[in-house]
Amino acid sequence: MTEHVDTNKVVRQHLEMEEFFTGFVIKGKNAMPAEPLRPSESPATEKPVTEKPVRKTSDSLEAIAAEVRACCRCGLGADRTNAVPGEGNPKARIMFVGEAPGADEDAQGRPFVGRAGQLLEKIIAACGLKREDVFIGNILKCRPPGNRDPRPEEIVSCLPYLQRQIECIEPEVIVALGAHAARTLLNTNKSIGQLRGRFQEYVAGIGRPPVKLMATYHPAYLLRNYTPDTRRRVWEDMKKVLAELGLPVPD
Ligand code: URA
Repeated sequence: MTEHVDTNKVVRQHLEMEEFFTGFVIKGKNAMPAEPLRPSESPATEKPVTEKPVRKTSDSLEAIAAEVRACCRCGLGADRTNAVPGEGNPKARIMFVGEAPGADEDAQGRPFVGRAGQLLEKIIAACGLKREDVFIGNILKCRPPGNRDPRPEEIVSCLPYLQRQIECIEPEVIVALGAHAARTLLNTNKSIGQLRGRFQEYVAGIGRPPVKLMATYHPAYLLRNYTPDTRRRVWEDMKKVLAELGLPVPD
């Protein structure tokens, strides 16, 4: 069977990828990437490559989000403007997991909407995907004051929400952004340098199938260490994710 090639999409992905390597253009605080192709522009016969069949659990992302918004399990609830449950495609094949909301996320109640979020969207676009195709969440759902590191007791209180989200979404691949996400989900103390670059397994519990997990650098780290080498490493990690999912891998 001849596969339909969406030339627009291929060209856009190529441009996004080139931009990834030649330097991200972050235009203004909340600038978004160029308007992506709408789903309706895809040929009707094309398989939805970013989604998978419906989940089996009776839990729901909406129920989890409502619980997160009312949560006072740890001290962070007292200081938040908004909790940030996470958002995206409930049937996503890829789930990105960051550390914790920052000031912009706390103000808007949405994950990755600040500068690190713009960079994450660039990475997603370079993969030929849109933000709405994936699910984006965090280890902690509330902002630690002054963006300090999450404390162990906060992670212990908050992690069950993320575990339930993973169970609802059943992603095929989790991309752990940065050391905190990777270490928490893999239950290890190893450095991000040791963890990134090859698939690991997120184990949800006894009898549950493991989920492939790719750790990579956090976009905020990438912004602070904006070198061709760090960008190349993130891109290599993402290419492995695309290959694992059978999605087109740009050269
Ligand atoms: N950094 C994170 O880890 N998560 C966000 O949502 C935003 C910035």
